[in-house]
Amino acid sequence: MSIFIKNALLDNGRMCNILIEGDRISSVTAIDGEESSLVNADGTSLDVVTVIDAKGMRAISPFVNMHTHAGMTLFRGLSEDMPLERWLADIWEGERYLDRESIYWGTKLALLEMIKSGTATFADMYWEPDVVAKAVVESGIRGAISYCFLDGGDKEKAARQRDECVQMYESLKGCSPLVSFVVSIHAHYTVCDENMLWAADFARKNGLKLHTHLSETRKENTDHFEKYGISPTRRLYEMGILGNDLIAAHSLWLDDNDIELYGRCGVTAVHNINSNLKLSSGYRFRYNELRDAGANVTIGTDGCGSSNSLDMLEAMKFAALMQKAWREDPSAMPVNQIYQIATVNGSKALGIDNGRIAPGAKGDVLLIDTRSTRFIPDYDFMANLIYSANSSCVDTMICNGRVVMQGGKVEGEEQILAKASEHIEKFVKKIKKR
Ligand SMILES: [Zn+2]
Repeated sequence: MSIFIKNALLDNGRMCNILIEGDRISSVTAIDGEESSLVNADGTSLDVVTVIDAKGMRAISPFVNMHTHAGMTLFRGLSEDMPLERWLADIWEGERYLDRESIYWGTKLALLEMIKSGTATFADMYWEPDVVAKAVVESGIRGAISYCFLDGGDKEKAARQRDECVQMYESLKGCSPLVSFVVSIHAHYTVCDENMLWAADFARKNGLKLHTHLSETRKENTDHFEKYGISPTRRLYEMGILGNDLIAAHSLWLDDNDIELYGRCGVTAVHNINSNLKLSSGYRFRYNELRDAGANVTIGTDGCGSSNSLDMLEAMKFAALMQKAWREDPSAMPVNQIYQIATVNGSKALGIDNGRIAPGAKGDVLLIDTRSTRFIPDYDFMANLIYSANSSCVDTMICNGRVVMQGGKVEGEEQILAKASEHIEKFVKKIKKR
């Protein structure tokens, strides 16, 4: 199968034709005002299945959302205006009513929202990874799906989770090119040391990424200092858990020594500004320091229970604005850097060869419709995209060489909305009765 995108304007301002064959971009040809043609250089005609005319649109790399709890879309708007500790207790209570079907429909909704707002790859941390994987494969976008350890120090549960993790890995291994298996340690304060060490060892023996929450709140850090006399980052480092395969969501309350360890070990930090602001966890994410230390900085939305949306354009705008505000420096986090954080850095963290529109890269392309007030005047496309536009400008998404949305329409979206709403109604009744 091949896709021919004609008349697409690229970042460098050149009009190009993009050919995607199989799961990769095979050619990007500048046309500079010439008529697009479906002819090879040797004059033979191209065998193309899908032709997309991108006139009036910009072709960019889709976004990589590096921290989600997709199934938590069911909790959007359920627990508002409370700090993390109370919010977590509320969510965990609600999660007692979850079943596999709820997680499936919550994830389907999340995937639809991600596609519509330009995300083609996401790193998830939630329950029932086989159900999440099924929804991901159906959606056509790419998920780094995890088995999540959370034992609360219960030895029996800890042992059971180790067995489940192995079984889940064996059953999902190689199930689809869109699915990669990740091992999640929910957090150092919810998982026993034995399981944290086991999870890191299992991930490394099998070449898998690790995903965790780290230094999200001031309280998490002060509690840890009181108990261990060192920061959570230092303790994870001493346990051998920090590494360039570790994805550390939040990384908000890091001191200089923690940042040095992130850089030395090549840890990926995920900034989740909307969730941090809403739960009042903090906002002084130390982007410049992490970048300069050599850490890989990425961005995520977190789950809809805390950030309420999975919109990466919104996350990018808030992240850039907050950096400028708290640093009192308008040059902090310029638009090209935030775009790189939301694309290239995420791809690097997950080991995926995308994040660029170039021959050989994965066949991931996002077409942004610039025919609206949001993009006029066109002095600076990136500034318009990050500060002026919203997800309504996301027109077409191609992921792994397959069209998953065209003209703002996702196949079967009405059915997903109807079925998810039907299921959620039942779920909400159960929750409200508690
Ligand atoms: Zn999270």
